[in-house]
Amino acid sequence: MIIYGNEIAAKIKEEIKAKVDDIAAQGKRKPCLCVILVGDDPASISYVKGKEKACAQIGFASKMIALPNDTKEEELLNIVHACNEDESIDGILVQLPLPKHINAQNIIANIDPKKDVDGLHPVNVAKLYQSRDGFVPCTPQGVMQILKEAKVSLAGKHVVVVGRSHLVGSPVARLLLNENATVTMCHSYTQDLSKITAMADILVVCVGKPRMITAEYVKDGAVVIDVGVNRGEDGKLCGDVDFANVSEKCSLITPVPKGVGPMTICMLLVNTLKAYEGRMNNA
Ligand code: NAP
Repeated sequence: MIIYGNEIAAKIKEEIKAKVDDIAAQGKRKPCLCVILVGDDPASISYVKGKEKACAQIGFASKMIALPNDTKEEELLNIVHACNEDESIDGILVQLPLPKHINAQNIIANIDPKKDVDGLHPVNVAKLYQSRDGFVPCTPQGVMQILKEAKVSLAGKHVVVVGRSHLVGSPVARLLLNENATVTMCHSYTQDLSKITAMADILVVCVGKPRMITAEYVKDGAVVIDVGVNRGEDGKLCGDVDFANVSEKCSLITPVPKGVGPMTICMLLVNTLKAYEGRMNNA
C-alpha cells in the first residue's frame, strides 16, 4: 500500500482553513508567518514561494523578507529581533542554508522560541528531548503524522532510522522513541547497513542518496518512509528508496514525490497556528 502524504496534507490544510475562517468571522487577526530569505539560491527561493502559496491557500497572512547575499550577520540579527517584537508575526522561519559568512546556529538561537515554527531553537530541541511540549521540526513531525494516519503502531516496534541530521534523522528518532519504539540510528559510519535495516519493522530513510535503499535492505512486510528528495540520473525527482523494487516487498511505503515532502509545509502551517493560539491565549 502506498501512503500519499499529499492527501493527508490536503485534509489537514482543510481543517486549518476552517479554523482560520472561524478566526476571520470573529473579526480577529489571522495567523501570520514571516519567512526570511538571504541570498538568491534557486532551491531556497522555490521553497519560500511554496510556503507563501500554502499560507495564502489556507488564509494565513504571510510576510516575506528577502535580503541580499552579502547581508551581514548583525543586520540579520536585527531583523530577527524586530520580528520577535512585531506583535503581528506569530511564526518566524529563517530559510536554510544561510550564506557561509553567517552563523546559522546563532541566528536560530536569537529567534523567540515561542515563534520558532521550524523547531530548531535550542529551547525547542531540549523540549523534544525532555518530552515536553514545544515546536518540533516540520519534516520529522510530518513523518510521525503519516505513521499516525496510516495507523502504524509504534510501541515496541523496531524502527531503524538511516541518517542522523539535526533537521531530520535525530529528531525523528527521538519522536519515535517518545512513542515507545525501539530505535536504531544508522549513519555514514554504520557497518553492514543492510543487515541492520533488514531487521526493521519500520524503516525511515533520510540520507540524501538517490535510490540507495534497495530490496535487500528491507524486511518482508516492513513499513518504509522515504524522506529523501533527490534528482536521479534520469533527472527525475526520486527518494532515497528504490521505490520500484522495495514497494514489492513492504507493506506500506511513501512515494517521492507526493510522500513526506507535502507534509513538511503542512506541519509548518500546523506549527504557525499553534504559535498563534499560544500567543493569543497569553495576550
Ligand atoms: P544531511 O544533513 O546530509 O544528513 C544525511 C545523513 O545521512 C547523515 O546523518 C549521514 O551520516 C547519513 N548518510 C550519508 N550517507 C550515508 C550512507 N551511505 N549510509 C548511511 N548513512 C549515510 O541530510 P538531511 O538534511 O537530513 O536530508 C536527508 C534527505 O532528506 C535529503 O535527501 C533531503 O533532501 C531530504 N529532506 C526532505 C525533506 C522533505 O520535506 N521531504 C526535508 C528535509 C530533508 P553522517 O552523519 O555520518 O554524515
